[in-house]
Amino acid sequence: MHFPAQRKGENSLPLCSATAFLVPSMPSLKFAVLAGDYIGPEVMSEALRVLAHVAKQEQLTLSYTRADVGGAGIDNHGKALPDSTVKLCEQSDAILFGSVGGPKWERLPPKEQPERAALLPLRKHFTLFANIRPGLLYRELTDASPLKSERIPDGIDIVCIRELTGGLYFGQPKTTTTLPDGDVQAVDTMVYRRSEIERITATAITAARARKRRLCSVDKANVLETSVLWRKTVTEYVARHAPDITLSHMYVDNAAMQLARDPNQFDVFVTENMFGDILSDEMAVICGSLGMLSSASLGAAKNSHGLPFGLYEPAGGTAPDIAGKGVANPCAQILSAALMLRYSFGLEGVAVRIETAVKKAVTSGSRTGDIAFGRPAVGTTAMANAIIAQL
Ligand code: NAD
Repeated sequence: MHFPAQRKGENSLPLCSATAFLVPSMPSLKFAVLAGDYIGPEVMSEALRVLAHVAKQEQLTLSYTRADVGGAGIDNHGKALPDSTVKLCEQSDAILFGSVGGPKWERLPPKEQPERAALLPLRKHFTLFANIRPGLLYRELTDASPLKSERIPDGIDIVCIRELTGGLYFGQPKTTTTLPDGDVQAVDTMVYRRSEIERITATAITAARARKRRLCSVDKANVLETSVLWRKTVTEYVARHAPDITLSHMYVDNAAMQLARDPNQFDVFVTENMFGDILSDEMAVICGSLGMLSSASLGAAKNSHGLPFGLYEPAGGTAPDIAGKGVANPCAQILSAALMLRYSFGLEGVAVRIETAVKKAVTSGSRTGDIAFGRPAVGTTAMANAIIAQL
């Protein structure tokens, strides 16, 4: 795995290790395309156009199949994650995912809502335990951040590694009961095994090694038993397997404050599921627009290339407020496709080419409304055209 960093003060393009994941012969990139709902299909079309362009340049064969998921799954198959979609994903080397949900399905019971009934089972089914979220804000876009520019003169460049299949969201029992006295009680259970903590620590070590070899583990070890085990396990695992890494620990409440105060004090941070959910969303806010943020969720299983099977998706949702207007920012989806090339297909050099093209297109002035700040904004297709022109 490769987790490129900007050099401090340089606002450089992501560092490239072109040989890190090169696969000697790569005839075909086989992936499932689950575009989802509202802006999902709009930005997905542009990502596929960018992929088609680089595939032609690099003599790669794209072999992808589209399938319904989320609201589209409910409308066309009666459920958010149709069996045929799961089967397609099982036969693929990666999933390029859009986003799911929206007002049309909001009246459904919570368990049938597109996000809960599609994304969570997909994560569970493919044991996608490691969520990698680059928190990247180009220096030229610091105005997009709610933080003062003097706090982030070179933009933001950090990585959040979130454990994705354990903790409070999946732990049992998970119940709501009416007590004998008539009161109502709900229970969620936070559970972690040492083996789960060790494997996410291993991912975080790989990330830290590709950057500045600094890793911060975030927990709540002053209160939670699971966090005591988390801290002990991370400490022992790093000492045993990665003495070259400088490890620090931080309580989650402090981490939330430090992210807002000085985000670049972190390089890579690793944390459990719920803390990661909250901190990665805070990271998204300080990085400006959701339209720029990509993510990768890597599984325990290897694909037919011997690389991690993964699901790649933008950090944002379906943006119903702008859907159908042709104004959504396609960059997050395009950058997610770049992550797929990097992690699931070993095409580091091609991934860097796409990331570089996105940065050049944006910093040379092509910007959708979410990152335009009073400049004339371009639409979804024109943004992708500008990226293709940089390729
Ligand atoms: P959202 O992320 O869809 O939108 C929040 C704000 O960000 C909106 O103003 C939107 O216009 C903007 N935005 C998001 N992506 C953008 C892009 N690519 N370009 C420009 N602007 C962009 O969050 P929400 O409004 O809270 O949720 C809408 C729906 O999406 C809900 O049904 C929610 O459940 C779902 N959702 C899905 C996922 C997912 O599929 N992974 C994630 C989050 C939310």
